[in-house]
Amino acid sequence: MLSRRPQATIDLTALEHNFTRVKQLAPNSKVLAVLKANAYGHGMLAVAQALKQADALGVARLDEALTLRAGGIAKPIVLLEGFFHPDELAQIVASNLQLVIHHREQAEALLAAALDAPVRVWLKIDTGMHRLGIYPDEFNELYQRLSQSCNVQGPLRLMSHFASSDELDKPATARQLALFQQITQGRAGEHSLANSGAVLNWPPSHADWVRPGLMLYGVSPMAEAVGCEHGLKPVMTLSSSVIAVREVKAGDAVGYGGSWIAAHNTRLAVVAMGYGDGYPRAAGNNADVLINGKRLPIVGRVSMDMITVDIGSEAVAVGDKVILWGNDLPVEQLARCVDTIPYELLCNITSRVQFNYLHTAGAVL
Ligand SMILES: *Cc1c(COP(=O)(O)O)cnc(C)c1O
Repeated sequence: MLSRRPQATIDLTALEHNFTRVKQLAPNSKVLAVLKANAYGHGMLAVAQALKQADALGVARLDEALTLRAGGIAKPIVLLEGFFHPDELAQIVASNLQLVIHHREQAEALLAAALDAPVRVWLKIDTGMHRLGIYPDEFNELYQRLSQSCNVQGPLRLMSHFASSDELDKPATARQLALFQQITQGRAGEHSLANSGAVLNWPPSHADWVRPGLMLYGVSPMAEAVGCEHGLKPVMTLSSSVIAVREVKAGDAVGYGGSWIAAHNTRLAVVAMGYGDGYPRAAGNNADVLINGKRLPIVGRVSMDMITVDIGSEAVAVGDKVILWGNDLPVEQLARCVDTIPYELLCNITSRVQFNYLHTAGAVL
């Protein structure tokens, strides 16, 4: 039996479904599945093990890549921000990791290093996001020198990252793509640009490798959409239990600061879920949960360990399951209610939450 602790149930069948959806949308591209930040809060190793068909995995930092290797993951792994210090290069070679090179200092350090074996390099060009990436006017020189270096394996891979691929009405993505094509024209090497927004919205950007993150987890990157509109299935269900049911009278103030006052006599369910579990505090007086299939409002502030839900005359009892997000309550909707993005909500789940992995429909392993 599942305990009454907060639970994150990770449906790996849904994950595989979403991967298949990526392949349908980008049939001619290889897939670099993005697993940074503990696979967007879903558990990096379990996700890596389930994504058997991914061509490569992407992480942000060396420690994340080493966790995957220590867990027995043998697939190509790309460090999306490259190395932070040249001291890391020996470990990168020893662990057979691939590198993004995104600025001149990094390129110079790689060129100057004495490596035991060459590394695979993805040269990242800034085409308009202005965060990471070499400047367009540095491309020819760095491409030449890196291509000729004995520290670099095979043809360079060429990449860029979109700032606004989730926004269909902006010209930025088409401009970035055009600049990328212009800069890289005639150069050998596979191309990669597309994050989830571009996989969904910008087929001309799919190129040799797509790099989906959020959509693999069944969630839409677009502000007004939810994953199922793109044929995706949410991978995470966040749930907990009712730990008390109580009556309140008209005029009673509930929770810290008494921020909600009952307008009439009603009943409250107290649920074991709070900001200490990663549930957003901004949801107080501002979002719904599902209890026994019914959408019911959170009233009063979210505290560290608990929320209070106005259940009126609904038949709710101690021990009943409460869904905070999942299939019938998209995390995208909660993100809109609390003025953030689903990426942040997923990443914020804390280690206090118990993770369960569903491998085939219904079976908890
Ligand atoms: C995080 C990241 C992605 C994935 O982005 P999503 O919007 O989650 O699909 C792709 N490429 C790079 C370089 C990233 O850092």
